[in-house]
Amino acid sequence: MLPNLNLPEFVTSLPSDKREVFFRPFLVKEEKILLMALEGRDQEEIQNSVMKIMTNCVNMEQDELESLPYFDIEHLFLQLRARSIDNTATIKVSHTDTEECDHVNTLTLDLNDVVVNVEEKSNILMLTESVGVTLQYPSLRVAAQLDTINESDVEKLFSFIASCIVNIFDNDNVYEEATVEEKIEWIGNTNKTQFNEIMKFFATMPTVEYTLDYVCEKCGKKDSVHLRGLTSFFS
Ligand SMILES: [Zn+2]
Repeated sequence: MLPNLNLPEFVTSLPSDKREVFFRPFLVKEEKILLMALEGRDQEEIQNSVMKIMTNCVNMEQDELESLPYFDIEHLFLQLRARSIDNTATIKVSHTDTEECDHVNTLTLDLNDVVVNVEEKSNILMLTESVGVTLQYPSLRVAAQLDTINESDVEKLFSFIASCIVNIFDNDNVYEEATVEEKIEWIGNTNKTQFNEIMKFFATMPTVEYTLDYVCEKCGKKDSVHLRGLTSFFS
């Protein structure tokens, strides 16, 4: 038997509840899985690979990892990437307005500076005087559905929302046991204002974010780029 390669262990805290979790860097064979998935650009394949590597490296049960809000997974992924390969990411950006200068700048940033801003926001929405809904942020698997939803795809959108409903309540009851079908029907019965209120919760969902100020190497103009979401760090 060849000797084991001892792996260092790192610790980070989850953006959602500040809980400390331990992880080891990913191995060359795991990095390979990831690179192949990223090249494929197939969302589902990427999500599966990310989850597989997470399960291997993060000291948490798979069930628990799968139920974490998506932004915790994004944070863990950037931490893993920073500790396993290196802590810098290289991105290519052009000006928002490319009329005067269409130069593409190559910039680097430190992944340890990337944070998830979890603002204190209520997940309980009152839709009428007496009826309200308790929502939760989507897990990785549920969030993955969002990428394939376009606006006309009402059915998919409703089922996405339904999987994020913890309960619906009124003055007398908390309806914890509603089925997905019942929730979908209930969402269909909201009016435009109520529906928009629900959608706002998801549109303002926390995610990995970073604002990078830079000076264009060609025209010398100051500009800045706001990166939001995991994939924007690997363009
Ligand atoms: Zn320029």
